[in-house]
Amino acid sequence: MESYDLTVIGSGPGGYVSAIRAAQLGMRVAIVERDRLGGVCLNWGCIPTKALLRIAEQYDFLRDSARWGFKLSGLEVDWSQVIARSREAADKLSRGVTSLMKKNKITVIPGEGRLLGPQRIAVKGEKSQEIGTRHVIIATGARASTIPGVEVDGKRVITSKEAMILPELPRSLTVIGAGAIGLEFAYFYSAFGTEVTILEYMDKVLPTGDDDVCALLAKSFKKRGMKIHTSARVKEAVPLEGGTRTTFEKDGKSTSVEADVTLVAVGVKGNVEGLGLEDMGVEVERGFIKVDDDMRTSIGGIYAIGDVCGPPALAHVASAEGVHAVEHMAGKDPKPLDYSSMPACIYCHPQVASVGMTEKEAREGGREVKVGRFPYLANGKAVAVGDTEGFVKIIADARFGEILGAHVIGSEATELIAELGLAKASEITVEDIHRTVHSHPTLSESVMEAAADWEGAAIQI
Ligand code: NAD
Repeated sequence: MESYDLTVIGSGPGGYVSAIRAAQLGMRVAIVERDRLGGVCLNWGCIPTKALLRIAEQYDFLRDSARWGFKLSGLEVDWSQVIARSREAADKLSRGVTSLMKKNKITVIPGEGRLLGPQRIAVKGEKSQEIGTRHVIIATGARASTIPGVEVDGKRVITSKEAMILPELPRSLTVIGAGAIGLEFAYFYSAFGTEVTILEYMDKVLPTGDDDVCALLAKSFKKRGMKIHTSARVKEAVPLEGGTRTTFEKDGKSTSVEADVTLVAVGVKGNVEGLGLEDMGVEVERGFIKVDDDMRTSIGGIYAIGDVCGPPALAHVASAEGVHAVEHMAGKDPKPLDYSSMPACIYCHPQVASVGMTEKEAREGGREVKVGRFPYLANGKAVAVGDTEGFVKIIADARFGEILGAHVIGSEATELIAELGLAKASEITVEDIHRTVHSHPTLSESVMEAAADWEGAAIQI
């Protein structure tokens, strides 16, 4: 029986990053994967959707060509090529993970892993086998969940996976849930002319977002022609002949929407089944594996990381947890992870990115807070490139300038948030950001100006 220092089950951004870090620390590592290397993120999530969203932005640009000085006629969409381009990006990165495994001398074992004991794993695949291991990391991720009354058939009523490979462009789409997935697909399809209706249970789109950001996002989506119903509880979605009917309740009234396709994007549930967790006594709480601050499960030697441990279901969080778990098992005593500084990004247009608290959370937390803002409209680069929708907002402790939260909506928001994340995680103050000279002309000057505004010293507004 082959034996390893660490066996990782699942090769998403949690699993494969853990495996590499362990190999760097001199461990003999195996990774068990039942599908393609890279997990949901590379194959059916972050990467293929970003390829699609980029194409949607380019289409937006081309449709608006007269504004940029082009005379284009006969612009047509080759839908199969749109999908193919996205699959190409996913395939390329999955192959990249295969090379990384080779480079780091990690043994890839295809098949489904099941715990037989704390140090023994059975792998059922083309070649079934048992392996010995000192440590285990469970990194099996999560999958789309649904709600009662919503019948996912994968053709008409679909999840995000099917939404990225629809055989043809739907004329109409109902989106259930205005979280990250719902918003990204709503923008994507709307950009290609699909009539989009969003149904959200909470009282605003992106319920976890800052109120000002959510308001601008809703305004922008409505301007694009999308219909948005908030405080709308979906009770039923059923496939019909050639379409779907989705029924929701709002203000005590029941309404139905018909569309070609309905996308369910109401969150995820952990892939905890078939792993032998119950037999082993690994504690699972509300469908997710329970872990401590060092990502240890209730059974010694077995760690769990990423989406299978519950929210936030974000690739970069899974990677950070994987590195932490490996360094902990190697006796390196890593610093605890700071979940309050984990950035979150949504790649619709306008992009949305945040780190830390919303203004409401900061105020409700009893802190005396002050807010600095800066609109893209007053940023030279945004005006020059013609993308002025959006703003930067920094929420900080009124006395010391400690950053409590930061929110960016607009062009390249998902890139701009990195500076604010670094500032928050490293306790860099608003004043430090203001006094750091930023290149001109860049969108990042909006971050500097928002910090200046916090001090009452913004120059460009
Ligand atoms: P989510 O939890 O982000 O959003 C689900 C939304 O559905 C919520 O707003 C919720 O209020 C709403 N909802 C729930 N029940 C409903 C009902 N009956 N009727 C109407 N609305 C209802 O989940 P998601 O968008 O499915 O994404 C899943 C996970 O993947 C999230 O953790 C998300 O952060 C992550 N993700 C991140 C990115 C990114 O970072 N860009 C992209 C995709 C997914």
